[in-house]
Formats: sequence, structure tokens, C-alpha cells
Amino acid sequence: MTKRLILATRNANKVTELRAILAGAGLDVELVGADAYPEIPDVKETGVTFAENALLKAHALARATGHPAVADDSGLCVDVLGGAPGIFSARWAGRHGDDKANLDLLLAQLSDIADEHRAAHFACAAALALPDGTERVVEGRLEGTLRREPAGSGGFGYDPVLQPLGESRTCAELTPDEKNAISHRGKAFRALVPVVRELLG
Ligand code: IMP
Repeated sequence: MTKRLILATRNANKVTELRAILAGAGLDVELVGADAYPEIPDVKETGVTFAENALLKAHALARATGHPAVADDSGLCVDVLGGAPGIFSARWAGRHGDDKANLDLLLAQLSDIADEHRAAHFACAAALALPDGTERVVEGRLEGTLRREPAGSGGFGYDPVLQPLGESRTCAELTPDEKNAISHRGKAFRALVPVVRELLG
């Protein structure tokens, strides 16, 4: 029987990306986004790591729906800032989700930092939780360096300033398929395949 798996997001692109990965691996799973459960409120991200926040969201959704649930949490980690913005990536400039303000503030903070010291990575933790409390977490990273000026119009968030290692373009200049192939979230979602097979297979 096809098992239902809930992805704790209202972002249709994330649902499509994980659904394609699970189907490509031959897993007989019906993946639905949290929009299928509008009555269930979003969980407060009170953890201090990506993994803690992903687990909080996955457990809450699994408990509330009675179905296995996946959740991801991600952000940008800058070496010279000791890993910040990290879990604060979405609200670095103070207002949640103001991508332009977040990016402008980050570039201003790094204005004196030389090119060779601008290493950074996107990190993503993806958690799978079962209604009985069983849990697993996997992680993925996309390593790169930070440009001085934004470039490209694709993607979101810090994409216009993160240039992946070995690339001459920023993430915002990659096609969605190119980015998914190397992204932190793509890697974490692909690392979920054996976990889904183990717990739901
Ligand atoms: P979320 O975990 O998808 O909610 O992402 C949290 C924040 O991290 C976003 O608001 C962005 O600022 C940043 N972020 C996460 N993933 C990416 C990415 O792939 N590109 C650019 N920014 C990202």
C-alpha cells in the first residue's frame, strides 16, 4: 500500500523537488505538503541548530497528522562570521523573509573582508519523524565563496552572492535543475532516500 509522507513546507517547489527524488529512487510514497493540513499551525523554530529545528517541525507534523513527516531547515553559514547568519538567515536584518535587506546587511558587514577570506556554505538539515517518535536527520552542504556584488535573478535569499566552488556563476545564475543538482537541500533530500526506504519501505 502506498504510504503517505508529509513535507513540512508550504513551498510547492520543495514538494516537487523531494517528490521527484523519491519517485526517481523507486519509492512508493505519496508526498504531500503541509498545505494538505491547513488546520495544523506552523511550529515555532525554537532550536539553535538546523537539525533541531528540522526535528521540531517533523515531530510536530507527524504527531498531528499520524503520518510520517519530513522537515528541512537551512541557511547560509559564513566562515569569517563564525557560521552566522546560520539559523538566523531568514531574519538577519530583523524582519523575517526580507531577502534584499538580509543580503545588503551581509555584504556591508563583509565589505572589508578580502576575497580569499569570503568562504561560506549553504547548509540544510532534513529530518524524518514517525508518529511513534522515531527520528532520523541527514545534512547537506553547498560550499562556495561570497561575491562583493549580487549577480543573477534566479533563486532566492542569498543566491545572488554565493558562488559555488568550481563555478564562475552565482547560484542565482544557475538554472533550477543546475542548482538542485549541487544544492545543500538537494543533497539532504537525496540522503533521505535510504532513510525513507528503511523506515517506510
Ligand atoms: P528555509 O530553511 O528554506 O526557510 O531557509 C531559511 C533562510 O536561509 C532563507 O530565508 C534564506 O535566507 C536562506 N537560504 C536557505 N536556502 C537557501 C538557498 O538555497 N539559497 C539562498 N538562500 C537560502
